[in-house]
Amino acid sequence: MNRETLAIRLQSQKSSYGEHSVPLYLTSSFVFDDAEDMRAQFAEEKEGQIYSRYANPNVEELLQKMATLEGTEAGWATATGMAAVFTTFAALLQQNDHIVASRSVFGSTHKVLTELLPKWGITTTYVDVNDYEGYEQAIGATTKMVYVETPSNPGLDIIDLERLSAICRQKKVLLVVDNCFATPVIQRPVESGADIVIHSATKYLDGQGRTMGGIILASKSIIDQIKAFARHSGPALSPFNAWILSKSLETLFIRVERHAQSALEIARRLEQHPAVASVRYPFLESHPGYAIARKQMSLGGGIVSFEINGGIEAGKKFLDALQLFSLSANLGDTRSIATHPASTTHSKLTPEQRLESGITDGLIRLSIGLEHVEDIWEDVLKGLS
Ligand SMILES: *Cc1c(COP(=O)(O)O)cnc(C)c1O
Repeated sequence: MNRETLAIRLQSQKSSYGEHSVPLYLTSSFVFDDAEDMRAQFAEEKEGQIYSRYANPNVEELLQKMATLEGTEAGWATATGMAAVFTTFAALLQQNDHIVASRSVFGSTHKVLTELLPKWGITTTYVDVNDYEGYEQAIGATTKMVYVETPSNPGLDIIDLERLSAICRQKKVLLVVDNCFATPVIQRPVESGADIVIHSATKYLDGQGRTMGGIILASKSIIDQIKAFARHSGPALSPFNAWILSKSLETLFIRVERHAQSALEIARRLEQHPAVASVRYPFLESHPGYAIARKQMSLGGGIVSFEINGGIEAGKKFLDALQLFSLSANLGDTRSIATHPASTTHSKLTPEQRLESGITDGLIRLSIGLEHVEDIWEDVLKGLS
């Protein structure tokens, strides 16, 4: 069956009521048939739910769908995207291990790599996103994984996953890909050779700005290691959020396709506008990673970034003139959202430090929503004038 259909039709076993839409299993624990059943489940000789920190039917359903969509054997769900990132590191790495990461990663991931993991002697070497020799050279005897984001947040850098995974395989290190911006609708990193896929489910997977969640997808043997760590350290996703997220996946394909269709249209129009210095969108021919994006992505995604003429002041004026767009830190929502990193998330950095993470003073990030594309464009024009 096609993935679009499976995202809608995969469902946990019906209860005795024969409900059409899956019920919410708000229960912290589960009962056993008898002492022997209880013993066997605790000994992991028999599959069962036991306790919702370990497993829950709503969480299992979400994971089954996501593993199917990404093409992996198994998965593990966490309370936030960052819990998925941290759990992956904490479960799979030992003291004094080394990570190689692409320079352009999500802000909190950067904090984990540079400020939290060093507490356990785990260090990171950053490599410029497209410096494949650099990745190869940075991998040393203690390196256990290469960690990348493509497209990256907020710079929309594109990394060639086939090329990087060939290096990782040769060097026998794991390739971990944060696939949050693309979703499995657009890009399936495991098919390009990645070992682990991470999602902030808070973004497109929910898609309506309601709930937080994170998902780790990989082979059964890797997920078993993650489970062994996470069952006891407790980053589990709540059944309620899993129920919302699983329902959201029923509309994932149709939403992501529309986000991408409108984003491409807005990106093309922005490129023609005199107040705009440059536009970044993976499916614009002017994007430096255009050829790779066309190879590994089926659509360009829903995020467009552009450089407005006039620096920080022009960026703030743009935001203030918007009427439809929300000024908010989220993305991947049905509602269009605009952010100006230089005056907000990255304002504490010096202009030089900002440039190092690819943030210019006039950079605006648009998360294109599901409103009518002409209404979205009209609002962008208000900002630009
Ligand atoms: C938002 C985001 C995260 C973190 O997810 P949370 O759900 O906010 O914890 C990780 N990676 C990327 C690319 C993101 O955009």
